[in-house]
Amino acid sequence: MKTSFESLNLSPELLGVVDQMGYTEPSQIQAAAIPILLAGDDVIGQSKTGSGKTAAFALPILQEVDLDNREVQALVLCPTRELSAQVAREFRKLARAHSGLSVIEVVGGQPSRPQREALERGVHVVIGTPGRVQDFLQRRVLEVHDLRTVVLDEADRMLDMGFGEDVGRILKSLPHKRQTVLFSATFPDSIESISRKYQNQPYRITVETPKQELDHILQVQLVAHPDKHLQALVWALKKYPHESALVFCNFKSSVADVVDHLGHAGVSIERLDGDLDQFHRDQVLARFRNGSVRILVATDVAGRGLDVKDLDLVVNLELPSQPEIYLHRIGRTGRAGERGCAVSITSHRDDKRLRTAAQLTGHSLDIIEPNLDQAGPLPVQLASIAGSAPMATILISGGRKDRIRPGDIVGALTGQAGNLRGDQLGKIEVQDRLSYVAVTREQAPAAVKSLNAGRIKKKKFRATLVG
Ligand code: AMP
Repeated sequence: MKTSFESLNLSPELLGVVDQMGYTEPSQIQAAAIPILLAGDDVIGQSKTGSGKTAAFALPILQEVDLDNREVQALVLCPTRELSAQVAREFRKLARAHSGLSVIEVVGGQPSRPQREALERGVHVVIGTPGRVQDFLQRRVLEVHDLRTVVLDEADRMLDMGFGEDVGRILKSLPHKRQTVLFSATFPDSIESISRKYQNQPYRITVETPKQELDHILQVQLVAHPDKHLQALVWALKKYPHESALVFCNFKSSVADVVDHLGHAGVSIERLDGDLDQFHRDQVLARFRNGSVRILVATDVAGRGLDVKDLDLVVNLELPSQPEIYLHRIGRTGRAGERGCAVSITSHRDDKRLRTAAQLTGHSLDIIEPNLDQAGPLPVQLASIAGSAPMATILISGGRKDRIRPGDIVGALTGQAGNLRGDQLGKIEVQDRLSYVAVTREQAPAAVKSLNAGRIKKKKFRATLVG
């Protein structure tokens, strides 16, 4: 029998919120974690993007929060600013019945003054990245004497990004009597050691990727000589038609290599690795989401937490070291019942790592050994997949903080003001301080011109074509 939200000990007001949000039943991780967290116990949980883990820890925090006490009662640590924003968004949605609740983001890469001022006014929940949080704690800008719960979200990724020391220092400075919740996609020794050191008899929750989620994914093994893996990638890109493809590598150097080769040949491709600063990372992701970049090449660290829907092809140019990561990677395609394809390039037919990983999915692999010599020289093959994406992205120097809404941008670009037709306009993403808008490539220069000549909400903003 399926668990219902009613059986999880949630308050009637939170049950109402969950219902309003259209959640009909709890996800696996919610069903397992919510009762334990409401009882005040620690949890070490396996998480996956899209598993509903944010609500799994946010609902118990909301149920326990004392609104009359404007002191920080819960702290959520996330590896990136982007994830903090995502968690904060979900938190605020779930808090609609908690009027007066203050949730703020304490993240690096942004001016610290507004964050400090917000803290001075009193907040209930802080969501942030370890560097800035540790800095604020040390400088006593952030006081935590009333803190009851700390959550480490995507803990493995935080350690991968070098936040281990900050996380340790933060945990040490929190009240001893508290609840510690740790979510991680993988459990290397470093994570187990944090759990041993800072958790109190945690309940362990592992959630298997539901097998039916993988039903829609065609899993292919492409066998090629190690010297020919790039050719094999190009072969796969040609063989499996896609609007958006994600290519995984294990190393930053491989990411750079692929992007150099394919980019020079005119393929619509971008890289996502840990070296990219937040601004460019945001920009690349926005362009990938709106269809102005077709192929994204990423390492696991950079690609995790990446929130992209409608991915129809995932390629493992290099196999991950752990089977769980394979599941994680391929589970990014074939979402919501759409068909997807996951291609893994290997040097040997009997690749044990791939076989073990594929067994975990409960589905079989199609093994293909393409004759890459017959496919012709690499430049010729590349020419056949080259070509820009149909859309281009314009960056506008204003966002939500300037009271811009998507409709304002539509207004500025269509009708008398901009002359664009609605069907020449793609996805519009309005962020805090800037916005991305996709327009058809042919119209892009004219659209930039008209945006720069005109006004949005009676104000001048700068528009630039970013690719
Ligand atoms: P997360 O894994 O926390 O990033 O959540 C992934 C998405 O699933 C978010 O858009 C949530 O709003 C949504 N979600 C969370 N819990 C449920 C649920 N029980 N039913 C349906 N959608 C959910």
